[in-house]
Amino acid sequence: PMVREYFLPDDLKAPKIIAKLNANENPYGPPMSAQKAVADSVKNGNRYAWKEMYDLIDKIAKKEGVTADHIMMGPGSSDLLEKVALVTFMKGKGNIVSADPCYMSLVQVAKSVGATWKPVPCTDDWSHDLKAMEAAIDSETKLVYVCNPNNPTGAITKGQDLLDFCSRVSEKVPVFVDEAYIELAVGADTQSMVSLLTQKKNVIVARTFSKIMGMAGIRVGYMVALPSYLETINKITRGGMGISYTSIFAASASLDDKDFQGNTRKLNHEAKLYLYENLDKMGYKYIPSYTNFVLFPVTIPAKELLTKLNAKGVSVRAFDILNKPWCRVSLGTMDEMKAFVGALGQLS
Ligand code: PLP
Repeated sequence: PMVREYFLPDDLKAPKIIAKLNANENPYGPPMSAQKAVADSVKNGNRYAWKEMYDLIDKIAKKEGVTADHIMMGPGSSDLLEKVALVTFMKGKGNIVSADPCYMSLVQVAKSVGATWKPVPCTDDWSHDLKAMEAAIDSETKLVYVCNPNNPTGAITKGQDLLDFCSRVSEKVPVFVDEAYIELAVGADTQSMVSLLTQKKNVIVARTFSKIMGMAGIRVGYMVALPSYLETINKITRGGMGISYTSIFAASASLDDKDFQGNTRKLNHEAKLYLYENLDKMGYKYIPSYTNFVLFPVTIPAKELLTKLNAKGVSVRAFDILNKPWCRVSLGTMDEMKAFVGALGQLS
């Protein structure tokens, strides 16, 4: 693997964080509509929410253009990534193919129950090297994981290329496509892989309410897959069981709240342009991002970067990638971006 992440030492007493730019959260959420839905629904929290969840599933199914049996809900998409990893790899070994770098949550769980990870380096523009990924698949491969747009790079893989890849590869092995950031991919040549399910392709698409919907702490996500595939998961670990009554209503309200989603998209894009402009001024090169974060190489060691920014109340993520230090900064409010730019300018 080409990525190593660094963390602040535990004993480093954090000052007041004025710019929390380390977890790709949506600084504008949760939408008022969702807050109201939580408040209005909490009184019924003594009941299990099966009926209410099926109403939400119907709504999501309509939006995705599939039938309800194609949807499994979870408390965030992490739950579903982990369920798939566990169920796929708990019996016998096998390998998982993904890009490197990529979002490691599914891969980590797969590895911890015995899977071998076959990392495939990204191309020069940090998109998925689909040819090399296809070549890496062998008779032991049980799952292919694609994160598009990708984390931690923010880069995108072209929609049609990925569609062709998934269409072909899923004949041999299930392809899991994590689309956590897809709604934020302004101006990108991309598309959801959900359309492949109407052709009965064995793809699994994960979506989350944590990013565009601003509900990372409310915990709602879902995956769209073939009903027969979801049955294999459900047999072992039930979908939807970890999602709360209030979260279901929050999710339903935020789905309807197109104004909030549009506003998030717009403000996120403005924060990104402001960041680009200032990184340009300071001479930093960055990977063009189709998400709510930006990854760029820095000139001081990763741990020093974290420590110095933390001392100014700015929280980011830091990695060594290809043996060089990189900073991943989430796109926050304009005030947060100004704090970040100010702190970065005073580094060295
Ligand atoms: N997938 C990707 C690519 C992510 O970056 C994240 C969170 O940052 C997740 C999934 C998990 O998010 P959640 O569990 O909040 O849906």
